[in-house]
Amino acid sequence: MIGKIMRSSQFFISTQKEAPSDAELMSHQLMVRAGLIKKLGSGLYSWMPLGLRVLRKVEAIVREEMNKAGALELLMPAVQPRELWEETGRWAVFGPQMLKIQDRHEREFCFGPTHEEVITDIARKEINSYKQLPLTFYQVQTKFRDEIRPRFGVMRAREFLMKDAYSFHTNHESLEDTYQQMHQAYTNIFTRLGLKFRAVKADSGAIGGDGSQEFHVLADSGEDGLAYCDGSDYAANVEMAETVVSGTRAAATETMRDVDTPKQTACEDVAKLLDMSVERTVKAIALMLKDDEGNESFCLALLRGDHHLNEVKLTKVDGCSDFRFAVEAEIREHLNNCPPGFIGPVGVADNVRVVADKTVALMSDFVCGANKPKFHLSGVNFGRDLPEPSAVADIRDVVEGDASPDGKGTLALCRGIEVGHIFQLGSKYSEAMNATYLDENGKSQFMKMGCYGIGVSRIVGAAIEQCSDEKGIVFPLSMAPFTVVICPIGFHKSDVVKEAANALYQDLLQEGVDVLLDDRSERPGVMFAESDLMGIPHRVVIGERGLADEAVEYKSRQQTDAQNVSLSEIKQHILTQLN
Ligand code: ATP
Ligand code: MG
Repeated sequence: MIGKIMRSSQFFISTQKEAPSDAELMSHQLMVRAGLIKKLGSGLYSWMPLGLRVLRKVEAIVREEMNKAGALELLMPAVQPRELWEETGRWAVFGPQMLKIQDRHEREFCFGPTHEEVITDIARKEINSYKQLPLTFYQVQTKFRDEIRPRFGVMRAREFLMKDAYSFHTNHESLEDTYQQMHQAYTNIFTRLGLKFRAVKADSGAIGGDGSQEFHVLADSGEDGLAYCDGSDYAANVEMAETVVSGTRAAATETMRDVDTPKQTACEDVAKLLDMSVERTVKAIALMLKDDEGNESFCLALLRGDHHLNEVKLTKVDGCSDFRFAVEAEIREHLNNCPPGFIGPVGVADNVRVVADKTVALMSDFVCGANKPKFHLSGVNFGRDLPEPSAVADIRDVVEGDASPDGKGTLALCRGIEVGHIFQLGSKYSEAMNATYLDENGKSQFMKMGCYGIGVSRIVGAAIEQCSDEKGIVFPLSMAPFTVVICPIGFHKSDVVKEAANALYQDLLQEGVDVLLDDRSERPGVMFAESDLMGIPHRVVIGERGLADEAVEYKSRQQTDAQNVSLSEIKQHILTQLN
């Protein structure tokens, strides 16, 4: 599939000095500068020959491991009819992320953002008996999602390449089995790719279902916060990571009083003014909750001053599934005309719901807004100065040092780029689309389903985000566009150089090595800068001076120093490095 032309003069190398101004991330800058991708429009990229070699290598590893796990490859259409999506109700749910199109008959379609509907349609038509199950299908295919803010090059693109797999089962145990096999296949894939990664518990989001895990490539620039235990293998997306709070609330010792806070609206500033720890302050976040009938009500969420609201957790609290932040007019309307910055839970009307984070529920003698401009209250206590909260729930992000939910240590935080996601869907889609099979007793049953995605094109960006230096990309061997570059000095001027370079090139080709021969007669500095930028893992420099001593120069992309290797041993030297 990958073309066999491996001479630079016949290949297409188009590196550039400047990174585009819209490239915030190093990986995006380097992918453009190395000429792996070219931008067509917002979130739309062409994979140039050099980049495509990388993408295809990633794809090949994904395919091998999926095949090894017993999944069957198929290929479904990118364009999908609206009717299918109406069956699951997702035509509306997916919202503006979905690119909707019409054909000449004004029939409606979408450009598929995912394929649960299409595969379930196949399953309900093709699978009749329990004897055909379990079954796992997968494809490597182009998806389109009209992201609000396409960015980071191919990492959050609108058109991107995904490997998506779907499994079908008669029972939950079988689904669990396949889910574990996919977990193992993903672990194999990211290990073979040479990436630092972690599997974490995840929220199931719009795809829905029972259990799910994400695979993240670890990188400081990652969009997702991850929490992991220092003493066990517990790890979760911060969206999901539970806080465990133990202990009981201490008895009140102070009386409640007004404190002057003329300019202090943030908890940190109030704490500083009062010369106390921010951990003794409570902030109130004003929300509007919408019930099933669409009626809105005002609500205060209480968090310790230094903690952050976790919106995913909040949506799981009874009555809070549909919330938004209140605007100033709404805050003033419900809290005595008090402006934001001084609001709190004391003295609010009975119909204002107060949802306290678990940590807050255990606090006593705390400081909070007074619902009076320029004032806070100190020495505040639940049950005495205000009622117990209407609800107590885990609604904050975990912080470094929190106890791990498995009780085996404390949590540390890091950042990651989501490259894979595995879900147990259960019968969500089979029920919506009536995908049934006949069991041993001839009775009709809904199939159980799992789905498993990998962002194939995102992996390339994520890998570069993890592996680069000031000279450019440092590709892991598994996905480098070429594994070895031969840089002859004076290729067209010196016959001995040309002969030695050609011989090594042929030898390596015969060994099946992806070797690039730079036969363009560029200056050494240009050749080195380009191959470093492109991230080629191994470089051999062949020049007349070295050849006089029967030597060539070898350098690994990961090391700073080059070494001399004798001409007769260079092939073996490289083959050893590659294994
Ligand atoms: P994200 O939270 O990053 O938006 P997602 O949860 O919407 O991702 P899934 O529906 O789980 O993504 O899709 C499977 C995989 O496809 C993701 O794990 C990710 O690697 C990849 N992916 C999703 N959206 C994009 C995108 N806009 N560009 C490139 N890859 C993407
Ligand atoms: Mg996801």
